[in-house]
Amino acid sequence: MSNLKNLPSVDAVKQLAKKNYPSINDFVLSSAVRQLLDEIRAKNSPLPQKNTIEGEEFLLELSKRAVDLTHELERFNLRPVVNATGIVLHTNLGRAPMPLEVTKNIASVAENYSTLEYNLETGDRGSRYSHIEQLICKITGAEAAVVVNNNAAAVLLILSALSKKPKNEVIVSRGELVEIGGSFRIPDIMSLGGAILKEVGTTNKTKLHDYEGAISKKTAAILKVHTSNFKLIGFCHEEEIADLKKVSVKNKIPLIYDFGSGMLDEYEPRLVGEEPVLSAIKNGVDVICFSGDKLLGGPQCGIIAGKKELVDRIKKHQLTRVLRVDKLCLAALEPLFRLYMDKDMARLKIPVLKMLSYNGDELKERAQNLCDLIKGDMASHLEIRIVDMDSQVGGGSAPTLDLASYGIEIYSHKLKVNEIEKRLRANEIPIITRIKNDRILMDVRTIFDNQFDIIKNAIELLVV
Ligand SMILES: *Cc1c(COP(=O)(O)O)cnc(C)c1O
Repeated sequence: MSNLKNLPSVDAVKQLAKKNYPSINDFVLSSAVRQLLDEIRAKNSPLPQKNTIEGEEFLLELSKRAVDLTHELERFNLRPVVNATGIVLHTNLGRAPMPLEVTKNIASVAENYSTLEYNLETGDRGSRYSHIEQLICKITGAEAAVVVNNNAAAVLLILSALSKKPKNEVIVSRGELVEIGGSFRIPDIMSLGGAILKEVGTTNKTKLHDYEGAISKKTAAILKVHTSNFKLIGFCHEEEIADLKKVSVKNKIPLIYDFGSGMLDEYEPRLVGEEPVLSAIKNGVDVICFSGDKLLGGPQCGIIAGKKELVDRIKKHQLTRVLRVDKLCLAALEPLFRLYMDKDMARLKIPVLKMLSYNGDELKERAQNLCDLIKGDMASHLEIRIVDMDSQVGGGSAPTLDLASYGIEIYSHKLKVNEIEKRLRANEIPIITRIKNDRILMDVRTIFDNQFDIIKNAIELLVV
């Protein structure tokens, strides 16, 4: 039988909690204490009498739990983690981390009023796209550009704007009718955009005459879709765009390219895709679109660039308003594209490019540093050593390339590997790791140098 009269009061628990944590948030503490007391009431188990040793201990324990719960309640659900998986563009972990130059501008635009749709010269209304259109054109070589909510939206918008009855057939190679990132299906997006899918070729081979044979009075466009994000150098498809271009010019049909991840230029030689955005545009793609938060290394958005006449038609479509980007996205894109004005600067400052361009020696040295840092006092508790690893680029497409990397491996005789993984994940700043052969693996490619201490502290907590 419960003896609820022995249940400490909200105030008693709060008072004790505040003695140890004077700066704790009073409001959150109150709800934490109430929640704990409700749980105890519901359990209905015997309580120690007040003002006895047992009673005081119970009160003290309760106040400690209240402090922990307060801190837990104060934490945001969406918060930073350490990505030790080695997957550079991890969709579940928010894809691209952004450069400092970018996040600073997001904060200052967010805190203040801004020139979002205001023309400072005339004092009249301006266009939200004016801030970045010229910059994108300058860097990509396109005549015009517009940005929407994400790349899936960009594909939908392009198809909706450019395929209209009686010209509403869009020719796509069977080999490119893919599902990307779990829920983006080219055929579904096409039908949503009112385009009639005209499949050509076979899954593994589509020839130029397949495209030519499918062209009719109803053809609105040829769509090329980037299926796997990356291919090794030497496996070069440059001719393909140029050849498709010939068909498109001869028949006066626009050539559209859904480039997915969209590396702008050849930043990382091991990762030359079919061709970078720049050369696809140079080789005559009429409209290209790609994600902002994949290899570009910025905010979630879909960037559409290409021939002015076509981009203008896209801009006028009603969906452009529906899919428009917010000011924070634009505040991110301007500093991001400015970094791209200088190729070396881009490689140095844009985290995604930096992570991809580490060489073996750099990664080994960083792994050694991390290993030395955490090994220190832990050597008697845990086996920690440097190991070879394979990082992945990630980003929604089928992973096709493993990047040789280095990391650390952790093994404990006392703790089960799943227990370690769980506790690192439950850390104040969660650390997301991989498990392989009964060991914890952390790939240094995706860990920032300033996160090494977070890992050190978390590892130390494993053995207390
Ligand atoms: C990732 C990807 C998309 C979807 O882009 P989101 O920005 O995630 O909407 C579309 N097409 C291709 C080829 C992709 O790789």
